Amino acid sequence: MKKRAYRKHSFSMAHRFSTTMRSKHGAVYGWMLCVGSGWLLMPCSVVATNDASPHANSITAEYRDTAKKIIDTTMAGNDAWNKMEALCLEIGHRLSGSPQLDQAITWAVHTMKVDGQQNVIAEPVMVPRWVRGLESATMIAPRHERLGMLGLGGSVGTSQKGITAQVVVADSEEALKALGESVKGKIVLFNQAMPPYDPDRGSGYGTGVYFRTHGARLASEQGAVAVLVRSATARSLRSPHTGAMRYGDAKVKIPAAAITLEDTDMIARLVKRGVRVMVSLKMAAKTYPDVASANVIGELVGRSHPDEFVVIGGHLDSWDVGQGAHDDGAGCVMAMEAINVLRKMNLRPRRTIRVVLWTNEENGLRGGRAYAKQHEAELPRHVAAIESDSGAFAPQGFSVDCVDEQREAVAVEQLKEIVGLMQSLGPLEVNVGGSGADVSPMKPSGVVLMGHRVEGSTYFDYHHSMADTLDKVDPTLLSKNVAAMATMAYILADMPHPLGTRSMPMGTD
Ligand SMILES: [Zn+2]
Repeated sequence: MKKRAYRKHSFSMAHRFSTTMRSKHGAVYGWMLCVGSGWLLMPCSVVATNDASPHANSITAEYRDTAKKIIDTTMAGNDAWNKMEALCLEIGHRLSGSPQLDQAITWAVHTMKVDGQQNVIAEPVMVPRWVRGLESATMIAPRHERLGMLGLGGSVGTSQKGITAQVVVADSEEALKALGESVKGKIVLFNQAMPPYDPDRGSGYGTGVYFRTHGARLASEQGAVAVLVRSATARSLRSPHTGAMRYGDAKVKIPAAAITLEDTDMIARLVKRGVRVMVSLKMAAKTYPDVASANVIGELVGRSHPDEFVVIGGHLDSWDVGQGAHDDGAGCVMAMEAINVLRKMNLRPRRTIRVVLWTNEENGLRGGRAYAKQHEAELPRHVAAIESDSGAFAPQGFSVDCVDEQREAVAVEQLKEIVGLMQSLGPLEVNVGGSGADVSPMKPSGVVLMGHRVEGSTYFDYHHSMADTLDKVDPTLLSKNVAAMATMAYILADMPHPLGTRSMPMGTD
């Protein structure tokens, strides 16, 4: 679990501040959306507007024409939608350890080779294999009703005949404690509502996901036999949302599943009315030994500093429902297509742009960790690492995050210039703080991490649910995101000084 503390940044007062904050209701809001195994909330402390800084207009002058050309060329036509159809419709969802993820890896390698990318490889990574199996949750008293449910990733299953027990409801840890001994032998339903999206504060996912992650451990400590959690979404058309859970140091592992907002509400109201609610839960979920998987890598090799890198990418795995369209097929395709567009334009930057499609972000982060480890020796020559894992909605800019705050501050000024060249794609901004789960293991090495930001008001409606399908992706917005990624990656890979520096290039021309 990683939550970034609020961090002040000393920009001029002209910059608009947007604080990540804990509201009076205890809700944690944050900008970055992605969301695998608990690396969910990466709040940003400052929103910097894209007004050009007074002392460094060189990037603007140098890259104005190229940026326009990249954007115009991308918007005139590209292969991103075709790639999305292949990935989402022909392969579909792709959980770690599934044959579909293997197919997606094969497809990505093949596609990047066909596109003419260089050094295309699949780097082996061992990943967990959790298989959902058949599952159901049925309310059997006061009446019979099948509930909309999805088992949580990593959960144990039930016996074949399932678990039938009375439901108790808790909307907080305190409420659970207050139930005391009465929890024994019962199914606990956690009913903590995820706050709705707020344009200034971002999503309330950090709050919404708490009991999904920790509910089973907390309830089992008090003797519960199973856990149901309100799905981590603020809006629902009776769709359950899965996601990772953890047992931590729980002595007894009890099954855990998410149910829809509507079913949660129904049960909570019945219990409040004093009605005895009984639920029968059946889950065949099982964790098998780790299996082989891979991060997929492909490059547009730099013309003068081929051993310096700008990494761009997303995660190729998804949950085992829907098609993993916004989460995160889109992020993978944006990166693949960004270097495809640049290559077709014969734009070869000084440094290498490396596409990395990480495996196992959702339930292990093994791909992100493996990349940082396998490429440890190269990390000092990573100029930046950008992850896109918030869907393919309207582009809003980039966030930046670096352990070296001075370097981060310089990077922000430079990035403001770069996004200033992309205003035809929308009002793009630069945020301080937050990047992506898969790039985060590179942070201790001092790599400048970046997150590709998009409008976030509907992401969690689809996220980790059967509704995360290609029809929810807008082809024009997808192209805009490809253009944003291609322009950013090109300039970062080409600018004379590495991002975040003004006078200490890693190499010399
Ligand atoms: Zn994701």
